[in-house]
Amino acid sequence: MTRLHFASALLPSGWANDVKVVIAAGAIAEVTTSVAPAAGDECHEIALPGLASLHSHAFQRGMAGLAELRGDSTDTFWTWRETMYRFALAMTPDDVAAVATLLYVEMLEQGFTRVGEFHYLHHDRDGSHYADIGEMAASIAQAAETSGIALTLLPSFYAHGSFGGAAPHDGQRRFICSVDQFAELMSASRKAIASLPDANIGIAPHSLRAVTPEELAAITPLANGGPVHIHVAEQMKEVEDCLAWSGRRPVQWLLEHAPLHQRWCLIHATHTTNEEIAAFAKTGAVAGLCPITEASLGDGIFPAREFLDSGGAFGVGTDSNVLVGVADELRQLEYGQRLKHRQRNVLSGGAGRSTGRTLFDHTLAGGARALAQPNVGLTPGARADIVALDTAHPSLAGRARDAVIDGWIFAAGSGAIDCVWAGGDKVVEAGRHRLRQPARARFNASVRRLVA
Ligand SMILES: [Zn+2]
Repeated sequence: MTRLHFASALLPSGWANDVKVVIAAGAIAEVTTSVAPAAGDECHEIALPGLASLHSHAFQRGMAGLAELRGDSTDTFWTWRETMYRFALAMTPDDVAAVATLLYVEMLEQGFTRVGEFHYLHHDRDGSHYADIGEMAASIAQAAETSGIALTLLPSFYAHGSFGGAAPHDGQRRFICSVDQFAELMSASRKAIASLPDANIGIAPHSLRAVTPEELAAITPLANGGPVHIHVAEQMKEVEDCLAWSGRRPVQWLLEHAPLHQRWCLIHATHTTNEEIAAFAKTGAVAGLCPITEASLGDGIFPAREFLDSGGAFGVGTDSNVLVGVADELRQLEYGQRLKHRQRNVLSGGAGRSTGRTLFDHTLAGGARALAQPNVGLTPGARADIVALDTAHPSLAGRARDAVIDGWIFAAGSGAIDCVWAGGDKVVEAGRHRLRQPARARFNASVRRLVA
């Protein structure tokens, strides 16, 4: 049993002082407020709950920063994708484990304690299936286990190169499954995470480009009550192609043809009309926003103000993992809205409210909904995922309560995190994950070979 004492902690009911948190078997057993620290308590200043990165493609961490050289023609998402395919085609299961392990170590150092891994690099380099079709899923599970992060594995169904069932192209050969093969992959993936504490599983139809309506209907039951995540309306070309194929925009098509509800998460949904936004918000499905990746890829800016005004739920994902951090994602989300609307504190939720706190609360709740975690936060029964901030950081000096969150997100960034407990295990201390060095060494060895 571990006993922690915090001078101040953000509980589901709000901020509280002198908070004692008792951890047993990886979960929070008790939370008591207004108590002095007792002998044997480990004392810290400020506690926040850990958040989820609800959308990650772990292998892409290996190519972070490698697609910043302009090509001959207009450089867009689609030229970035060519670099990504080249990288994906070279990786072995051991490379994926090495890259994912460092990524998850970095996520924990940055305040993410659960990851939704939208996993589509399934097969061997020539496109043939591994003897165990879940071999790559096992690499992801191994990385989660080593790092201590909680995993929601979202095996992706990917069958086509474009709308209307177009044949996939050769660069996609490691991603492709038939419906029957995907059912096999789901069974193997369930086995791969079976011994992992706090892991769960859903499905990820890749996009309306990669999945026909018949296939979408056939695979959805394989989620078996778990989350269903899909990329949608990330790029204008995708919206135009979807209109040409169906006469509907991608989000509009889903609203009319898929049973959207709280277990669904629409990743990006960037190019969405006000009408679509209002209807999407009503379904209870979560918007999976990836502000840094969307900026990196030149996708566009999600209509977040309108979505929140409609009562929509959102969480954030690190997606391409070009830069990893809770504070970085939330700052980019708000700054995108400021640039778009030429105003400040756009997503604060009202006069006198802290923008950082509002973003934090939405991200905690939306991430939990999108990854099917009914009990999160600093409350009995929840996984003991706790982030302690470093009050010695100059950008947190003299701050209390919501001002601490604002100081972290908008000023301190990555330097403000002191300790992180994942499932009750203190994996990060003084801002460093205990496996940072070996994880970096293994990652570097893989990536040096891959980029050679
Ligand atoms: Zn993605």
